[in-house]
Amino acid sequence: MKDSFERTIDYMRVSITDRCNLRCKYCMPYGVEPVKHEEILTFEEIHEAVAVAAELGIRHIKVTGGEPLTRLGSWKLVKMLKSIPGIETVTITTNGVLLEPYLDRLLEAGIDGINISLDTLDEEHYRELTGSDGLPQVLMGLESALEKKIPVKINAVSIDWESMQKQDKEDQSGGAGQGPIYHQEAPWWVPVAELAKTYPVHVRFIEMMPIGYGRWFQPLSQQVLLARMEERYPGIQRDLARHGFGPAVYYQAPGFQGSIGFISAIHGKFCDSCNRIRLTARGQLKSCLCFEDGADLRGFLRAEYTKPGERQAQVRAALKEAIRLKPAAHCFEQPEQMTEFRNMIDIGG
Ligand code: SAM
Ligand code: SF4
Repeated sequence: MKDSFERTIDYMRVSITDRCNLRCKYCMPYGVEPVKHEEILTFEEIHEAVAVAAELGIRHIKVTGGEPLTRLGSWKLVKMLKSIPGIETVTITTNGVLLEPYLDRLLEAGIDGINISLDTLDEEHYRELTGSDGLPQVLMGLESALEKKIPVKINAVSIDWESMQKQDKEDQSGGAGQGPIYHQEAPWWVPVAELAKTYPVHVRFIEMMPIGYGRWFQPLSQQVLLARMEERYPGIQRDLARHGFGPAVYYQAPGFQGSIGFISAIHGKFCDSCNRIRLTARGQLKSCLCFEDGADLRGFLRAEYTKPGERQAQVRAALKEAIRLKPAAHCFEQPEQMTEFRNMIDIGG
């Protein structure tokens, strides 16, 4: 379906839980409470919403959260979504800690690809940032997925750790108190980028957006990071091949098996080609990350109806209206215009 700006909307991110086994400081630090189970859409409700969305032209589903693998039987949902006529791909984004034991079931369910979020390869930095010692499990999950020939992408949020650390040192009170200490000698992004050298994976640097606790972190822009990469990897050049359905801009460095991508919502604003909507774990359909507005699909999915097909008709109408009202662009550059104050974990990243 097209929105009112003639953009084709064919991609839906579906958050299946607001719970997580990590506590990333920019997303779900300690103290953020999860909502009650009954508030979260059931698999059947998600299936029904996606089936209606598929009738309207949604073709690609990203299962996300919270951490989707913490929800019991998440692989069963992958299978349910894959069986919907019109749905071409179902992929998942995970922090990777629980990935390895679930790989066979995900594969059997028909998963088309896995995005692993991994912001650092330094164990101490990882522990400070996520509150977990799970880095070895993540790397095991990555290697195992590749052995099983599942396409893998790595997502790393692009944060200016060096400046944040400097600022924290200057500020006796510790600044916003958010910046984990950076210990490595090489810049933090080097080992992350070089995962694309060691493995056949695309590594994407995602500019930190001012959503939830993310607003306290200083983003490192694509322009700055790319300039540093050009110095470190002479000969790096644009990779014009398409690697998925999102807004990443890719580069190929000599000797690397995979590409390096940038997803720059602020410094490389891509709203003109935005193709996505989001379904939150509580069943709100959001058409833009920046604004809190959205359709309450859960209300329609749980209402009592008398006529057959009435529920689907209501969900369809709500979806169409939400797509019609999709804003032209986000307003992250003018945060005072933002109306979304929830954390990423509540929205579904
Ligand atoms: N737990 C899963 C994971 O970590 O991949 C899925 C949910 S998580 C919210 C999805 C992605 O959103 C992660 O890659 C995370 O780094 C990213 N993210 C969270 N808060 C963000 C923010 N404020 N700006 C940009 N990306 C953010
Ligand atoms: Fe959990 Fe993913 Fe948020 Fe980290 S980014 S707290 S892994 S949901």
